[in-house]
Amino acid sequence: KPLVVAIDGPSGTGKSSVSRETALRLHAAYLDTGAMYRAVTWHCLDTGVDLADAAAIENACEEVDLAISTNPDDQKVSVGGRDVTEAIREPGISKAVSAVATTLGARAELIRRQKQTTADSGRRIVAEGRDITTVVAPGAEVRILLTASEEPRLRRRGLQLGGTQSAEALKEQVLARDAKDSAVVNFQEAADGVFTVDSSHLDFEETVDAVLAVIRR
Ligand code: C5P
Repeated sequence: KPLVVAIDGPSGTGKSSVSRETALRLHAAYLDTGAMYRAVTWHCLDTGVDLADAAAIENACEEVDLAISTNPDDQKVSVGGRDVTEAIREPGISKAVSAVATTLGARAELIRRQKQTTADSGRRIVAEGRDITTVVAPGAEVRILLTASEEPRLRRRGLQLGGTQSAEALKEQVLARDAKDSAVVNFQEAADGVFTVDSSHLDFEETVDAVLAVIRR
């Protein structure tokens, strides 16, 4: 049976790990669209593309040889055959990624690739990001907005980064990125027909259960 599960939300809600676990439980494919924006950003920094030059970013996005695994057990991302799975998680990428995400021509190209991947998946896939429920897969069988209040989001991001950032720096990074991203995508409130799951007071297992409950409702 076809099943596309679209999950959006800001960072620190547990979105990626919850989406991946959901895909594993459903024996579905998994697409982390944020990893694609990160990979293009890595490519731009690697090739010296000026992140203030929208046309150059758009161009880089169109020609980039980007491969992303949709196997939830093996989340590999590569650019031009180079494994960038780890490199795209570096703070430098998190800081620069909004420049790519807010370049409309670059978004159009990544959205095109994401729609294709979703369609090619045999239509059994969990796709997550910021605009999956509204733009990439508005016709998905299940659409979820995963939210959480600020405090748990900052705490989770801090843990992910291994406590390497001060509370102030973390706050500045997470909130500044959300503010920049919000200029082009609305992931702060649920669109019509989108279920909200608030993970503020849920642990990982409980959040996965809440998502599965929406899927099985
Ligand atoms: O989810 P993650 O934090 O890895 O996403 C990295 C960045 O990619 C976001 O901050 C945002 O700029 C961009 N993004 C986006 N649309 C998506 C997924 C991610 O603009 N669907």
